Amino acid sequence: MSFFKKNRKEKKLLQWKIKRRCIDLIIESSKSVYPNEFGGLLSVDEKEKNTITELVLLPGTVQGEAHAIFKLHMMPVDFRIVGTVHSHPSPYPIPSKADLELFGKHGRIHIIIASPFNYSSWKAYDYNGNEINIEVV
Ligand code: ZN
Repeated sequence: MSFFKKNRKEKKLLQWKIKRRCIDLIIESSKSVYPNEFGGLLSVDEKEKNTITELVLLPGTVQGEAHAIFKLHMMPVDFRIVGTVHSHPSPYPIPSKADLELFGKHGRIHIIIASPFNYSSWKAYDYNGNEINIEVV
């Protein structure tokens, strides 16, 4: 079994993808809680582990600052969860200091969507806060 070798190679070639319906749901959810922040978790397909197929909404956590949205004990134990998504009521999808702390702790991919919440007002970041490209499929 060369699982580890293969895994390492895949990591290098990784191109993240996200289903369009997930973006739609993120847009809808952000609009519906505005001017509060919306927060959720990103879950990938069981077979295509680089494709985000599901948005997991956290119960009762739609108010306040992003770092308050993501309470550790509310995170379900699910290996398909790869990262987080949250909205900014401002027009800037730029990670705050609290966001960067969150990114470093939880997951590999993080999406921020800013006002006016459309296809071009979101960005994705890695755990270091570097912007990364996600292909919408
Ligand atoms: Zn934020």
